[in-house]
Amino acid sequence: MAARCITGAMDSDTLQERYDIVIVGAGHAGAQAAINLRQAKFEGTIALLGDERALPYERPPLSKEYLAGDKPFERIMLRPEAFWAERHIAFHGGARVASIDSMDRTLRLADDRTVGFDKLIWAAGGSPRMLPCPGAQAANVHAIRRKRDVDVIRQDLGAAERIVIVGGGYIGLETAAVMRKLGKQVTVLESLDRVLARVAGPLLSRFYEAEHRAQGVDLRLDSTLEMFETDERGRAVAAILTSGEAIPMDMAVVGIGIVPEVGPLISAGAAGGNGVDIDSQCRTSLPDVYAIGDCAAHGNPYADGAHIRLESVQNANDMAKVAAMSIVGTPIDYDAVPWFWSNQYDLKLQTVGLSTGFDQCVLRGDPAERSFSLAYLRGGQLIALDCVNRTKDYAQGRALVAAGAMPDPNELADGERTLKDVALL
Ligand SMILES: Cc1cc2nc3c(=O)[nH]c(=O)nc-3n(C[C@H](O)[C@H](O)[C@H](O)COP(=O)(O)OP(=O)(O)OC[C@H]3O[C@@H](n4cnc5c(N)ncnc54)[C@H](O)[C@@H]3O)c2cc1C
Repeated sequence: MAARCITGAMDSDTLQERYDIVIVGAGHAGAQAAINLRQAKFEGTIALLGDERALPYERPPLSKEYLAGDKPFERIMLRPEAFWAERHIAFHGGARVASIDSMDRTLRLADDRTVGFDKLIWAAGGSPRMLPCPGAQAANVHAIRRKRDVDVIRQDLGAAERIVIVGGGYIGLETAAVMRKLGKQVTVLESLDRVLARVAGPLLSRFYEAEHRAQGVDLRLDSTLEMFETDERGRAVAAILTSGEAIPMDMAVVGIGIVPEVGPLISAGAAGGNGVDIDSQCRTSLPDVYAIGDCAAHGNPYADGAHIRLESVQNANDMAKVAAMSIVGTPIDYDAVPWFWSNQYDLKLQTVGLSTGFDQCVLRGDPAERSFSLAYLRGGQLIALDCVNRTKDYAQGRALVAAGAMPDPNELADGERTLKDVALL
């Protein structure tokens, strides 16, 4: 193993000319792929290139404990600093890949240096979708995707009392919960008629809407932002809705989804559109080029084989394993059950499966007691569960969704019985 390793910012002396494997993106998927390769006894050289300077870290805490100031950076690092060097994984921070020559098997970095590879794993995630409206570029309008986004938010929070959050998805709602905990005045703008519309059924949306309102959030549904009004210094001072209403603010956080980071791959000829297309072993249409994580569009068995991207730690980790196993010559197919979690206030939501296309939703437990699950069925088959403070349902539900269980809906509705019991009927 010849890789020389550094653990901080990239240093031009230490980047080798060529690596057996170059991984682009040092987030969840990229870092896990490097780990899996070493676990699978891959002995060649590995470079892990990330455009962020920080060592690989967990992204979910960015809208939870790290934003709240409850966990320092050291506690959200994926592995301690020494880990990468010990495994001969050459981590290079501050290394943004600008283009790929798939014939020559070479990458060009934004600073013009080149790196060769035998095999490439593209794990570049996505960038926050930007609002196209006036004022959206103001310094006090933020997204939350990277550590440095949250560092800037936290720096400015002392002087910010009124927070406007654009987007009622997971990131927007988690941010709202943290901001309330920090004592801020919070308005959430959601242009659709319910929160979490993209990912959950209406019952869950209604529960979270009620919860946020009870916690003091001014939650506006059917409310679309037109623009931010700015002052003479260019700071956003009000969110202007399409209705004409102006909501005075000190800071905005925008959480309206991501755009997959696949430009260099698509320019190099890889098939794709909304993400880069991969097969069941995470291979792109380019030879020896893999793609994993948020940026990878794949046929998912839990979405009836539809080509989708999943934005979750589960998907990043499981795809990392699939790519690594394919590279070391013991291929496995990607068919993991999707799962996800979200923490808001004292509510721990755990989801399993994909509820899209359900034709029946069964409630287990009592939302008033802040512990319940929603089981989604299609044609009698259990396809997904959303579990709020009900970890047992989540744990047992994973196996049932994977097995394509067909539980009796009446039995399912009996919250006193375990899911395992119900499925045995
Ligand atoms: C605030 C927040 C909260 C979340 N909460 C949850 C949660 O509770 N549960 C859950 O399951 N998931 C959650 N997610 C989603 C989860 O974090 C992502 O699905 C996961 O990080 C995807 O991993 P990835 O490696 O594909 O992408 P990332 O983790 O985004 O890593 C991609 C890396 O590639 C780098 N990069 C991009 N372009 C280039 C380039 N050209 N050259 C070099 N490097 C590049 C990026 O800077 C980044 O560091 C959350 C995400 C966010 C942002």
